[in-house]
Amino acid sequence: MDIGALRGTQALRNNVLKWMGFCLGVLAGVFAVFNLFINDFVVLGALEVVFASFCFYIFFYTRKRNAQLWQSLTLCLFLSLLITLGTYLSSIKSLLFIWTCSLPVLFYLLLGKQYGQVLSLMVALLQALILFSKSSLEPLNSVNFLLNFSFTYICIWAVSHTFENSRAEYGQRLENLALLDPLTGAGNRLAMTHYFEVELKNKNGLFILMLDLDYFKNINDQYGHDVGDRILIEVTSFFRQRISKGYVFRIGGEEFAIFLPSSDPRSAYEFADMLREHLSTTIHNIDEQVINLTISIGVACYMPNQTLKNFIKRADDALYQAKQQGRNKVVTAYELSQESIEHNKAS
Ligand code: GH3
Ligand code: MG
Ligand code: MG
Repeated sequence: MDIGALRGTQALRNNVLKWMGFCLGVLAGVFAVFNLFINDFVVLGALEVVFASFCFYIFFYTRKRNAQLWQSLTLCLFLSLLITLGTYLSSIKSLLFIWTCSLPVLFYLLLGKQYGQVLSLMVALLQALILFSKSSLEPLNSVNFLLNFSFTYICIWAVSHTFENSRAEYGQRLENLALLDPLTGAGNRLAMTHYFEVELKNKNGLFILMLDLDYFKNINDQYGHDVGDRILIEVTSFFRQRISKGYVFRIGGEEFAIFLPSSDPRSAYEFADMLREHLSTTIHNIDEQVINLTISIGVACYMPNQTLKNFIKRADDALYQAKQQGRNKVVTAYELSQESIEHNKAS
């Protein structure tokens, strides 16, 4: 399974940052030489030297690792500073302000919609202030120049915004198609692998519950497949309502998995038993038909450096034991102290 494909946005931003780092590094180096030795803009030239060094650092960093938000943000802010400062210091004839139009594209590509909106607006206001404060916009005709320049900037901003909006929306829709079970809306096996690798693997006290509905085939046989489907949907929302972080996955026909991060052996067992007990006492009323369900659950605790496959297997073995012991049971893949079992039975 190509889990990397689910991190398309990150890969795109990383690639853009890498090559922007390279191109801007080269350009800033050329401009630095020009400003230091020909134009005599020492401050601007010195800033460009720092910027070029930062760009090359970004280029080499992103070749091996994923970019961090602060790096993209610093690149965007630094470039904005250079362009606005350059516009302020140089005459209109240098046409340096034209670079402003490249900023919205960069903001949206590197930082997404929210940062894109804020930074594009900020740069627009700043440049408007700087250009209006100039004593002369000669040789450009003021009204024509300002209208053309503003509309060009607004068009590029609007296109960048629309592009990023649609890209993010379609990305999300594709991700949902790839990760969600169409019947119940629960995560599928790929989603489970993805969340485990990205979010859960390094968490302390990670537990997995493997849940399998008891005698579900009989429900299909007795009430029909449609009713069976609706039961699966109800059971999914039943699980969802009872877990705060929403890690519910449907990994087989009537088999589910739930991750419990930051738990402990006893709490994981008690939570599983609470689910089992609540489900067995819940009456499902579908098309005037009253249906009772029970569930068997296997619980396992994550051991450091264990693969997801082994982690699941241990919970699956415990689930098998729960079925063997007559169903409607919770079995753990670890020993619980007698005291906690007594406590559980008493409550
Ligand atoms: P056990 O207690 O041993 O788990 O018995 P069981 O009947 O639940 O298990 P078994 O594996 O024999 O049957 C699973 C059933 O789940 C068979 C299949 O008809 C049903 N099933 C699987 N996927 C779906 C689905 O998407 N919708 C419906 N309605 N039924 C499904
Ligand atoms: Mg079953
Ligand atoms: Mg099954």
